[in-house]
Amino acid sequence: MTRDPRAPKEDPRLARIRGDHEKRRPGARQIAGLLDNPGCVRRQVVELSRTDPRELSRKAGVPPKFGQSPFAISTGNRIEELAKRGSNYDKLLAVLRAECDLPVSASRIEDLNDIGVSGMDADTRLRLRVRRTEHLLQAIVERRPDAPTIIDHPVLTLSVAGVTVYLEPDALVALVIEDRLLLLEIKSFPVVDGQADTDKTTDAARQLAVYVLAARELIARLGGDPGMVSDGPLLVTPRNTSLSDLTANPIPVRRLVAHLSRALRRVEKVDEILASLPVGFTLDPVTDAHNSGADATQATAAALMRIDANYLPECRSRCDLGEFCHRQHRDQQSPAVLGRSARDTLAGVPTFTAAVRIANSAARPDDTAGPGVADALRRAADAERAATDLINRRRA
Ligand code: SF4
Repeated sequence: MTRDPRAPKEDPRLARIRGDHEKRRPGARQIAGLLDNPGCVRRQVVELSRTDPRELSRKAGVPPKFGQSPFAISTGNRIEELAKRGSNYDKLLAVLRAECDLPVSASRIEDLNDIGVSGMDADTRLRLRVRRTEHLLQAIVERRPDAPTIIDHPVLTLSVAGVTVYLEPDALVALVIEDRLLLLEIKSFPVVDGQADTDKTTDAARQLAVYVLAARELIARLGGDPGMVSDGPLLVTPRNTSLSDLTANPIPVRRLVAHLSRALRRVEKVDEILASLPVGFTLDPVTDAHNSGADATQATAAALMRIDANYLPECRSRCDLGEFCHRQHRDQQSPAVLGRSARDTLAGVPTFTAAVRIANSAARPDDTAGPGVADALRRAADAERAATDLINRRRA
């Protein structure tokens, strides 16, 4: 495989952190994950080093609990086929005209899915699709008469910490309508009686925000106005229970795009992120100088735990390391497992045992809880004792 000369080189420190773990190619979902917990160094290090967090969690002895359901993936593929190639795009165009009143024409559709020749490796094909996407968008920016009205399966790129990430959505269509560029994503979850699953819609919106940002950056690089990419991309989903009855709805992503831009600027500061790690840190138990003979599972878990984590209860449904971090915080009796409010109220109190000890006035010089937190714990303990006394007197 020949390397794209335009692709920036990976920072060797990040390659060392990943070690022999397989290198993962991140997509929109992983980039959108930067929005979840911007204060978590553990997640940033794992994402930046392109180590697969699901694999890492498994290797550290904690199987991850969630993932994309194979059923949802195959349903999504069927809907995409039906809407696009299976109906020569008629179905998709009909939905866009009927539901969104879009004057879109099928006159110039470019599908980049099958670009390349047989036997070509996946990376070379991907780069060809990137170049073709750029070429077609250049025609749109220059308003050439041969510019496409729909680009199916484009490949966009985004720089994350100096590394080019390829965004290869399965079902993304760029629609050129007058002088606007609309992005569109097809998802398998239904809209029933006008309502869709909130979590799934939120996930889709975050991915769409990644695509909008990437498209805007590309349009700017091509000399066009990034504002031509609409911040109300379309989500196409089945209506009610029928896979063949589709609906399209605009999803506002302006705020998400702004948050994402900030999150990406933060991870550009690789030096700052890596500064908290021990010199020569790695997640690879084989090359880990800190590993003094522990087996691979314990060594991987120990390496992960050496990176600061900012555990929040929503981590379990939002991050592939959620189960690992939950187990660590539960085993360490961290107040964070009870939620943000308990964690913030008990700021500086590392464990429930410490909270009970401080509440019973057995303060130690090494306690990190501020006087306000310690006083609150003691007042709570006094109130509990008074309530227990009262109950016991009434029972006597
Ligand atoms: S699950 Fe762990 S690594 Fe992921 S965001 Fe939460 S604390 Fe960070």
